[in-house]
Amino acid sequence: SPELLEEGRRAYALDREHVFHSWVAQGSFDPMVVTRAEGSHVWDGEGRRLIDFSSQMVNTNIGHQHPRVVEAIQEQARTLCTIAPAHVNPARSEAARLIAELAPGDLNHVFFTNAGADAVEHAIRMARLHTGRRKVLSAYRSYHGGTELAVNVTGDPRRFANDVGDAGVARFMPAYPYRSYFHSSSPGEETERALRHLEDTILLEGPDTLAALILESIPGTAGIYVPPPGYMAGVRALTRKYGIVYIADEVMAGFGRSGRWFSVDHWDVEPDLMTFAKGVTSGYVPLGGVAISEAIYETFRERPYPGGLTYSGHPLACATAVATIGAMRDEGMVEHAAWLGENVFGPGLAEIAERHRSVGETRGLGCFWAVELVKNRETREPLAPYGGSSSAMGEVVGAVKAGGVLPFANYNRIHVAPPLNISEEVARRGLEILDAALEVADRHAD
Ligand code: PLP
Repeated sequence: SPELLEEGRRAYALDREHVFHSWVAQGSFDPMVVTRAEGSHVWDGEGRRLIDFSSQMVNTNIGHQHPRVVEAIQEQARTLCTIAPAHVNPARSEAARLIAELAPGDLNHVFFTNAGADAVEHAIRMARLHTGRRKVLSAYRSYHGGTELAVNVTGDPRRFANDVGDAGVARFMPAYPYRSYFHSSSPGEETERALRHLEDTILLEGPDTLAALILESIPGTAGIYVPPPGYMAGVRALTRKYGIVYIADEVMAGFGRSGRWFSVDHWDVEPDLMTFAKGVTSGYVPLGGVAISEAIYETFRERPYPGGLTYSGHPLACATAVATIGAMRDEGMVEHAAWLGENVFGPGLAEIAERHRSVGETRGLGCFWAVELVKNRETREPLAPYGGSSSAMGEVVGAVKAGGVLPFANYNRIHVAPPLNISEEVARRGLEILDAALEVADRHAD
């Protein structure tokens, strides 16, 4: 409607005047207006409908405006908007019960945070106190959040501005078959060499100095590079061997994203601590947390935990989590995501890769896929440098959007991460649009 368009224009002008945005140079930033969103679609400032292949920040796992969850938020707001973390609240108790039930292994206790970064901060604090050690091991090509410590354990270039080397972080090369740091020529070789490198790193850093190892179960923004067979089990075994707390970061990869409730479930790995956020509420109300094993819980049975937040276990957020998990379960969304991965995204993206010389590799699971764009398939030179952008990538993203799909783009990659309940038809339509838009990328590839 004209009123909606006008509202969007006014919002844009005020945004540019007063809103300070994340990660970008403020002056040249040209954000998209969104006036409405429903299910797997968003409408831009001109009233054009786009298929949301980003799930925004890869968090609206149940799509936009799911009626059951909107209703639950309204109901909780009518009942009790907020209460201090120290008081018992039914929404919080139920959210914790559900998360403990779904989480792998004996992660039976939940500390609630506001989002992912503070979940990472608290998981590391718990690991340090539990072990009496200080340093944290994290992978290059990873993302763990924007707060001081979380951005320092991050292994992507976004940490550079805050990384002065004093955060107590030691890094290792991840297993990443397409761009192997170990010159391996098969997934099996990658696993073996990456694990040997990890053990060497642990020994060279000094096992007794290492409190925790933090690893995204499937690295998300860093490239959705699915670990090769045996890698995750190997990481778990090494952390056990050296008494290092293993923190699985499931902030992006969890809550059904990859077709299992948590991505570690693909490899039957049981972490000591697990961070979550995003999909737990489908982003409708901010919430994150740490799921805690019995052994680490024991450390804090008699000894006070030195940490807390005004909004730990906020009732509005916890009621949202309960309704989100309920909707996901009742509507079989996790199973649907797995089905889409196997039957639509996997084969569909493989066909796209065959048709376009700019596509170096497509990979993923469930509703969590990456299309890696390259200038040359032999050399694998990326279409934008690691940590940077290029006019070619800008053109590709522009073409995808112009076709009617909102993608998640990072450096030289387009990610396909729609809501888990996207219909097969809309998913296929989105792939067709992506396919057509990649003609633009091909022009920049040999
Ligand atoms: N960990 C992972 C794997 C993430 O993808 C993110 C955010 O993208 C975070 C942590 C940080 O979460 P938040 O932005 O909610 O603080």
